[in-house]
Amino acid sequence: RAKSISFIGLGRMGSEMAYNLFSNRMADTSHFRFVVCDAVPETASRFSDNFRKHFRGANIAVAANPEEATLASETIVTMLPSSPHVRQVYHDSGGIIPTLRSLPSADASNTLCIDSTTLDVQVGRDVAAEAEAAGAGMVDAPVSGGVTGAKAGTLSFLVGGSKASFGRASPILSLMGQRIIHCGPAGSGLAAKICNNLVLGVQQVVVAEAMLLGQRLGLDPSTLARVINNSTGACWASSVNNPVPGALAAKSAPCERDFEGGFATALMIKDLGLAMDVSKASGSPLPLTSAAERVYVEAVRRDGELAKKDFSSVYRYLERGM
Ligand code: NAD
Repeated sequence: RAKSISFIGLGRMGSEMAYNLFSNRMADTSHFRFVVCDAVPETASRFSDNFRKHFRGANIAVAANPEEATLASETIVTMLPSSPHVRQVYHDSGGIIPTLRSLPSADASNTLCIDSTTLDVQVGRDVAAEAEAAGAGMVDAPVSGGVTGAKAGTLSFLVGGSKASFGRASPILSLMGQRIIHCGPAGSGLAAKICNNLVLGVQQVVVAEAMLLGQRLGLDPSTLARVINNSTGACWASSVNNPVPGALAAKSAPCERDFEGGFATALMIKDLGLAMDVSKASGSPLPLTSAAERVYVEAVRRDGELAKKDFSSVYRYLERGM
C-alpha cells in the first residue's frame, strides 16, 4: 500500500488531476502503482487505458469500489461532485471509513485521505473526524483554477486539516498544483473555497449588469472593459471572464465560444447554495450572495442550456430582459 495511490472520481477535474499526479509521481519514483475508481466503471477503464497508452508499462489498475481502492493504497484522493457523493464514498458500507476500520491499526494510521470535492463544510468536517477516529489522516483540499488549471497542473489547493496531515498532503498536492495554502483545521479549506466563490459569483453578475448597461448607454464593450479593468471595478470576472464577445483583446473568455467550457452555472449555483446553507448557522447575513443565487437559478430555469455553460452566460439572461 505504501507505493500505491488511489484516485476516486475521474470526471472533468479528477481525470486531469489524476493524470498529472500519476505522471509526475512516475517521473519521481519508479515502481509506483496507481488505482482508479469511478461510479461509472467505463470512465475508470478509459482513463486507465489512456494512461497506459501514454506511459507504456505503467502499473495501473481499476478498483471496482472505494473498498478495493482503500485496501490497495495508503494515499487516497477523491474528487466527487458534492456532499451526497462524499458521504457515499467515505461513510457508507463498502466505503473508505468502514474499510479503514477493518485494517490493522498500523495500516490505518499510514493512510492519508485527500478530498478535493467542493462540499458542505459540516459534512467535510464530519467525514474528516470519522476518518481520523479510524486512525487515518485526512485533509479537505478543494481547488481553484478550473479544468484549465487542472490540466496545466497550476491549481490552487485550499487545505483544511491538522498540521501533520497538511505536511503529509503537501508533496502530493504539489504534483497537481502550484499553490498549496493551509487555511486551518478540518473544514477550513472548504470554508475558504465557499467564501472565494461567493465573491466570484456576485462579481460575475454585477460585471454582466455593468457591461449591458454601458452598451445600452452607447459605450463600445472593449472601451468599457478597458475602463473597468483599469479602474476600481477591476476584477477577474471583468478582466479574464468578461461576458461580452470582443470586449477583451485576448478573446479567450468562454463567451467567445458560446460560453462552452469554463465553470458551469450549475456548479456556481451549488457553491452559492453551500454558502447560503452555512450563512444562517453561522449568523452571517449574505444578502448579495442570496440575490446572485436567485439570478443564476432563474437564468437556468428560463434556459436549461445555461446550466452546463460557463456561469458568465448569466449575461445572456440579462440581455434577453430577464
Ligand atoms: P464531474 O461531474 O465531471 O466529475 C465527478 C466524477 O465523480 C464523475 O466521473 C462521477 O462518475 C464520479 N462519481 C460520482 N459519484 C461517485 C461515487 N459514488 N463513486 C465514485 N465516483 C463517483 O465533476 P467535476 O467538474 O470534475 O467537479 C468535481 C468537483 O470539483 C466538484 O465538487 C466541483 O464543484 C469542483 N470544482 C470544479 C471545477 C470545474 O471547473 N469543473 C472547478 C473547481 C472546483
